[in-house]
Amino acid sequence: MKSCGSLASPVTAPRRLPLRPSRRRHSATSKRPASQPAPAFGYLEAPAGGVIVNPGNSILKDLSATRQGFIPAFDRSACVDCGLCDLACPDFCLVWGEEEAADGRLFIRLRGIDYQYCKGCLKCIDVCPTTALTLLREEEGYAEAHSVPLFPFLHEERSPLAARRNGTKGEA
Ligand code: SF4
Ligand code: SF4
Repeated sequence: MKSCGSLASPVTAPRRLPLRPSRRRHSATSKRPASQPAPAFGYLEAPAGGVIVNPGNSILKDLSATRQGFIPAFDRSACVDCGLCDLACPDFCLVWGEEEAADGRLFIRLRGIDYQYCKGCLKCIDVCPTTALTLLREEEGYAEAHSVPLFPFLHEERSPLAARRNGTKGEA
């Protein structure tokens, strides 16, 4: 039998990778003193855990994207202020205000709809006993032109609907 010793590749020693420098720990006997940054908070200054200091707020939300082409149109002259639409509405769309009757008594009157929060479910139309709320195919600009702001203090500055009407950016 032939020896295959001459055909065998020469055995080479495995290449030794350079050793990583080991991390040396400073021992108590090390010359360099161990230093540790002071904590940002002590037990006296640390903020209380689990406290939401800046809670979110849905009054900036614009739900108009949920509408599917239809919107309730409000006719003030046909409304009897029964409040059924407000009971049916899943959002806070119907805007009411206090007004004074001819005899001096105060009463609550439906002023309109804040279309920023109207998702177009059309439940208010179903329950309205008069023709005050009717189905309307939504056209561009209708909501902006007919919306009654639920939060007037918010509308001109931050509301997305007012921003669209004014051509500014808005926040939501
Ligand atoms: S369509 Fe729906 S969300 Fe819009 S005002 Fe009527 S009940 Fe409210
Ligand atoms: S349900 Fe119709 S009539 Fe009653 S308050 Fe609403 S819009 Fe007016």
